[in-house]
Amino acid sequence: MSDVAVATNLAEEAVAALRGQIRGELIKPGDPQYEQARKVYNAMIDKRPALILHCADVADVISAVNFARDQHLTVAVRGGSHNGPGFGTVDDGLVIDLSQMRGIRVDPVDKTVRVEGGCVWGAVDHATHPFGLAVPSGFLSTTGVGGLTLGGGIGYLSRKYGLSLDNLLSADIVLADGRFVTASPTENADLFWAVRGGGGNFGVVTSFLFKGSPVHTVYGGPIIWPMEVAADLIHFWQDLILSAPEDLNGWFAFITVPPVAPFPEQYHLKKMCAIVWCYTGKLEDGEAAFKPIRQFSPPAIDFAGPIPFPALQSMFDGLYPAGLQWYWRADFFDRFNDKAIDLHAKYGAQLPTMHSTMHIYPINAAAHRPGAQDTAWGYRKANFSQVMVGVDPDPANNQRMIAWAKDYWTALHPYSLGGGYVNMIMDEGEAGVKSAYGDNYARLAQVKAKYDPTNFFHVNQNIKPAVT
Ligand SMILES: Cc1cc2nc3c(=O)[nH]c(=O)nc-3n(C[C@H](O)[C@H](O)[C@H](O)COP(=O)(O)OP(=O)(O)OC[C@H]3O[C@@H](n4cnc5c(N)ncnc54)[C@H](O)[C@@H]3O)c2cc1C
Repeated sequence: MSDVAVATNLAEEAVAALRGQIRGELIKPGDPQYEQARKVYNAMIDKRPALILHCADVADVISAVNFARDQHLTVAVRGGSHNGPGFGTVDDGLVIDLSQMRGIRVDPVDKTVRVEGGCVWGAVDHATHPFGLAVPSGFLSTTGVGGLTLGGGIGYLSRKYGLSLDNLLSADIVLADGRFVTASPTENADLFWAVRGGGGNFGVVTSFLFKGSPVHTVYGGPIIWPMEVAADLIHFWQDLILSAPEDLNGWFAFITVPPVAPFPEQYHLKKMCAIVWCYTGKLEDGEAAFKPIRQFSPPAIDFAGPIPFPALQSMFDGLYPAGLQWYWRADFFDRFNDKAIDLHAKYGAQLPTMHSTMHIYPINAAAHRPGAQDTAWGYRKANFSQVMVGVDPDPANNQRMIAWAKDYWTALHPYSLGGGYVNMIMDEGEAGVKSAYGDNYARLAQVKAKYDPTNFFHVNQNIKPAVT
């Protein structure tokens, strides 16, 4: 018997039969590629799957799902592998890795973008930019389209064009029974509702059809202030963002200035506060739009100006390569009162490592247009999504940065709306998932019972099938 068959009691003939069906690469423990293939973005996650299939196409995904079901193997689905708790991998199971399925087709006439299930956002930006189009995504270009869209999708364009999932027109999905279906407003509408926020609970999405929106060069980038103005800056920024035109977006961050160019040397390794801006209005209006921001208090560092959207989107990729230790905690907020802002100033000044950070993302304006029940994303009244992120290359610092993230989150949580963004929580169990979905959880459980009654897809922020 082969290593994998011995390790997992898999029938060798079944593995050989799978190999005969697929075009992609099947990797098992002991193969030279295995150690690299089993890694996910968060180096805190260290799992050893029985098999990893780099699917070449939809047929491979169907074969993989049928194989895992017949062999009673646990399945993890991997898009961009950025998931914090590491749901893109699993011990002793089968990883359906979509990273080779990265075709993109832009239709400049219909202004739509067809994206295969394993693409990362940088590839989408690359494909759409020459057509003067963009799909709302996140704040880094290396994140997967799959996980980010299925859980929400908060980014530079949220205030102008909504969340990523608000721009989804349809999705092709391989279900737990191996069937291939399309979910859209007119086909399997209940499934279409659920995948817009319900994560990977319902099947493997092999391709997404998005609406593209007109975006090319924007006025944006980070503006950085000394830590001393943190509380005043949050007050100023909050009021601004709650009433700003939809063209203006800016997320707040506590940062440690990296000790590299182009950051001026006198600020290297200083803890500071930043707002990273994206203004999608007319470029010639950019300076005027930023005048009150620059007048609030003189910035220490000002990198805002005209920038192609893909450059803004990938600006922080180099700072956060794969292979760092990650731990995060999240909550939604209506607004931050004086007490909450004081707590932010206190914990922001205690960032435990150079990469650790705290972000507050605006999710008002266009992201408020759909109703709370229109998609599975239920927090349409929230104005802000907040995340405390402990990050460091060295596992020796894990305890310290996890303690900081937990203490900070615990201090702010009483001021929150009660749940956190499903894509930015760790493995916090059923309670975490339920609070992330709020009133939409019960309906999600019904749809889960219809499309995945055995909870075959459970390596995710799991929605348990409703008992009928
Ligand atoms: C550095 C970094 C930056 C981030 N920035 C942002 C941001 O700006 N905005 C934001 O909203 N979020 C952001 N996130 C959070 C991100 O949305 C989640 O981590 C998300 O889970 C990543 O998706 P992925 O495809 O890369 O991850 P994966 O680990 O591959 O998958 C995540 C989950 O989605 C499922 N999944 C992925 N693809 C598919 C598919 N095609 N079909 C079915 N299920 C699938 C997986 O099974 C898993 O449960 C960021 C995360 C990181 C680590």
